[in-house]
Amino acid sequence: MLTRDRVISPPQKRATAAIILAAFLVLSCTSLAQAQTISAPYSPVLPCDFVESLEFNGTNANASVTEQVELGPRTTGSTGSAALRSVIHAQLPQWDVTNNTYTEDNITFTNVVATLSPEGSDESTPRVVLVAHYDSRDVAERDPDVNRTMDPIPGANDAASGVAVLLELGRIIPFMNLGYEVELLFTDAEDQNYSSGSLYGAKAWVNAQSDEEVNRTTAYVVVDMVGDEFLQLTHVYPGDVALWTTIAPLAAAIGLMDTKEDCNGDLGRDIVNLSISTGVIDDHVPAINRGIHAIDLIDIRYGEGAQPFEGYWHTHEDTPDKVRAESLRDVGLLVELGLRSEAWIYDFRALENSEEDSTQPDDNVQGVNEAEMDVERHTGLAITALIGVLGAMVLMVVLSLSVKLKREQ
Ligand SMILES: [Zn+2]
Repeated sequence: MLTRDRVISPPQKRATAAIILAAFLVLSCTSLAQAQTISAPYSPVLPCDFVESLEFNGTNANASVTEQVELGPRTTGSTGSAALRSVIHAQLPQWDVTNNTYTEDNITFTNVVATLSPEGSDESTPRVVLVAHYDSRDVAERDPDVNRTMDPIPGANDAASGVAVLLELGRIIPFMNLGYEVELLFTDAEDQNYSSGSLYGAKAWVNAQSDEEVNRTTAYVVVDMVGDEFLQLTHVYPGDVALWTTIAPLAAAIGLMDTKEDCNGDLGRDIVNLSISTGVIDDHVPAINRGIHAIDLIDIRYGEGAQPFEGYWHTHEDTPDKVRAESLRDVGLLVELGLRSEAWIYDFRALENSEEDSTQPDDNVQGVNEAEMDVERHTGLAITALIGVLGAMVLMVVLSLSVKLKREQ
């Protein structure tokens, strides 16, 4: 075959051609790497600029906890559940509020979704989703009274506290003039003792999201069990690494970290301690599984000196007297500050390949930058490996062709 004979060079030139080809591949891959380098539009959060304007009222939230518990158990499908949906609708007059009812595994449950969008928003407007389950548990499996373990719990902290925080935020958010969309998601059937599983509401919400909606959801923040008189919030996994880096500067700004100075220069209280990490399955998990940037603000140690998943948790002692307005206020202010400072509309997708949290979670700017560097490092490693494989393939092809040609000659 003369044509190929002409194309293929003599042995020495063939080696040169292979090197040139490999070099070309390296160059084109390098420019590809540069094109993929992430220049995330991150601006450091300056929470102290917003602390003076915070309005969250813990007394209002505390009153809501009592009001919810007085409705009776809010187990899925109960009259208490329906009554609470009416309360949610009534207390969010400026919001677009809808009930979304689903039936799965013969369980019918209803999420309440409240949306507030800025004027002129479209399908690319960033969205922050704040989440609380509004169902209360149908059993009290941890109650010391064995005769009452099959009765529903009052659910003051679990999870009237989370609903109360969202409702108080819902009162003040319409006056914040935020430039992005906020959704309040009240999930149902998070905490029922079904043999078929839990988290029904969050899973249904996640399944109903289009890819577009997923992409514009820059943060999904769950608040659950946030009313304990002895509140202590820890880092919770699974959780979005980048989103977690925003929490420490916000918490420090309002004096919730005992190792950090607040915006007035005073040392904070020991409310948020991110050096402790707790594994929790909650409504954030289905969102994370869908690739949404989600975290869970939860205190799973309920009561003075309680260990994780102990104390009053899932007992009949989960009553409004164990919940304190100041704890609700601390969490409410933290979330309000996150909203006002735009800490959560950062394009966290830029960081989604960063794997382990090698960052200092109490230094937001450094943390995010390190995570960003991490992405570049991993992208670089992947491309180097790709170049190696491609180079080897090219060399093998060139060599096999030259061997074949040599035989034909
Ligand atoms: Zn629970």
